[in-house]
Amino acid sequence: RISSPAAPPAVTQDLSENIILTTVDDLYNWSRLSSLFPLMYGTACCFIEFAALIGSRFDFDRFGLLPRASPRQADLIITAGTITMKMAPAVVRLYEQMPDPKYVMAMGACTITGGMFSSDSTTAVRGVDKLIPVDVYIPGCPPRPEAIIDAIVKLRKKVANESMQERAQMEQTHRYYTTAHN
Ligand code: SF4
Repeated sequence: RISSPAAPPAVTQDLSENIILTTVDDLYNWSRLSSLFPLMYGTACCFIEFAALIGSRFDFDRFGLLPRASPRQADLIITAGTITMKMAPAVVRLYEQMPDPKYVMAMGACTITGGMFSSDSTTAVRGVDKLIPVDVYIPGCPPRPEAIIDAIVKLRKKVANESMQERAQMEQTHRYYTTAHN
């Protein structure tokens, strides 16, 4: 007489979700971290350093970064320079037009805090993170291209270790917030 095989141990819902999602996250993150496409976008003098980075001297392409002229084709925006109140809606619009998942680097003192315009200007935004969520800050006035490369390395590490679910939730929260306040 052949006895029926023992039933396989039950896999809890938590365990099954974690195993599958962790594996998919690793594959997905690995494929993305070497193909981040930054938007060609700058608002003031910091952009001159960003433009220098794109030249052959700093070999920016070795990280797989390919600048794009359309936000529809970009997944990274580097806010390079002062953001004025008048420019703020355009920054939010550009960010919203980028497909998910997307990343933001705040480059330079003016973008991060308002910089030299933070005390008496009525037209400068005191921190682009009041408009869109920032992943990496690059301090300086202006930051050198080497500092941008350091920020790219940090962003790649962040992409390599993130959870797709958490990223989607964060972007969803931002969308809800901007929809509710516009
Ligand atoms: Fe210009 Fe300095 Fe402001 Fe950058 S941080 S936009 S270089 S003033």
